[in-house]
Amino acid sequence: MTNVRTRFAPSPTGFLHIGSVRAALYPWLLAKHYGGQFILRIEDTDQAREVEGALNVIYETLDWVGIDWDEGPDKGGPYGPYKQTERKEHYLKWAQDLIAKGRAYADPRSADDLDKIRADAKARKRPFLARDYRPDNNVDWQPGMPLRFLSQPKAYHWHDEVMGDLSAGIDAVDDFILLKSDGLPTYNFAHIVDDADMAITHVIRGLEYIASMPKYLNLYEALEIKTPVFVHMPHIMRPDGAKKLGKRDGAKSVLEYRDEGYLPEAMINFLALLGWNPGTTQEIFSTQELIEKFSLERIQRSGARFDERRLIWMNGNYIRNLTSKELYIKAQTFWPEEAATYDEAYKKRVLELVKDRLKYFSELADLTRFFFIDLPINSELIANNKKLSELGSDELKSLLHETIGVLKTSDFSLADLTQKLNDLLEHTNQTPAVLFSLIRIASTQAPASPPLAESLSVIGKDRTINRLNQQADAL
Ligand code: GLU
Repeated sequence: MTNVRTRFAPSPTGFLHIGSVRAALYPWLLAKHYGGQFILRIEDTDQAREVEGALNVIYETLDWVGIDWDEGPDKGGPYGPYKQTERKEHYLKWAQDLIAKGRAYADPRSADDLDKIRADAKARKRPFLARDYRPDNNVDWQPGMPLRFLSQPKAYHWHDEVMGDLSAGIDAVDDFILLKSDGLPTYNFAHIVDDADMAITHVIRGLEYIASMPKYLNLYEALEIKTPVFVHMPHIMRPDGAKKLGKRDGAKSVLEYRDEGYLPEAMINFLALLGWNPGTTQEIFSTQELIEKFSLERIQRSGARFDERRLIWMNGNYIRNLTSKELYIKAQTFWPEEAATYDEAYKKRVLELVKDRLKYFSELADLTRFFFIDLPINSELIANNKKLSELGSDELKSLLHETIGVLKTSDFSLADLTQKLNDLLEHTNQTPAVLFSLIRIASTQAPASPPLAESLSVIGKDRTINRLNQQADAL
């Protein structure tokens, strides 16, 4: 394979959602797989849609997931500039080439004029094709005038690396705007020129562009530009598969996942499998493995269902595989406030206990608060427990007092606590569902906690006994 060059070409219009980061990931994986280059190009020609700060959000998001680029606006490179608004002279050069070939014309008509023409086509029940309404003028194109492509309609057959062999009739080819009156190019023109100027070998993008392929192919021919390999990625669908994922279905900013304490490696793993599969049942891949295994052949054609539960599951998986040190570093900003005065050793013990149930780090505060402060008695915890609510408060009290008596003799090592708790089961003749639930509730006041003996050992003797007393008094 020749030197592979791929690109991610976002518009600075807001945050990057799951779909945008996947649109960066697949070309990045391909470039890395073949030892080629990955280019970041900013498509900022639609200035009305531009959002301040969006460029930094693009950098920040890619940095977070670990997608790096070889060439881009911040880094430069041999084919720069990498921001479309800074490439006007390139578009002008190609536009003049088209004008000289008679393949582009000034379009002096206003938006209103065009609306009228469109309405006319509709009234005549004909599809609107701009090429049926070419203005009969011989106006020389001047900067500041819209410039329109003069198409040469024909049917096309072409190959898409994912979607296969495709074809379209001549109605899919039409005249379209190349340069707008503000002097900036449209996406339709700019991306073709830039991909050629930047020696891009594979155009990898969303399926929404596939319908325009015949128009683009016509322009490639007019420009005498060799076509790159085309790769259209499948749509990302709602979990029920019924529709494309939209903003309202939870298509949120990928940086929100960062803020909720997801791991970038899990996000990459998840996104890689959102439309690509390795052909095996393997689900967990390191980024390095993805680079090795990624191939265009295994990108699927059908829509890829976005299932956040899968991401959550994967993230939990990555968290469980962190070393104690990594876990501690990643957890740092997610502790409950009350943890501030506790030392590293204590927090590491807490982390080891909760890591199996931690799915993302923003859950950490609620899962661990009771390790740091005494939570107020929550009488509902007993009331809502089927078994415990069947016992009278005197019975519960006496169970708690018996427990206190025994735990007072424990050194609170894990081994001793385990022994003492089992002895208690025997003496009280209770099931774990009753006795251990009661002790767990009394000692944590939390709806769930890690294994009992482990938790008590970390909470410590004085605090545990104090909490059991408080609970007994409250009954
Ligand atoms: N600027 C386009 C977008 O954000 C890029 C599409 C492409 O990759 O060509 O959708």
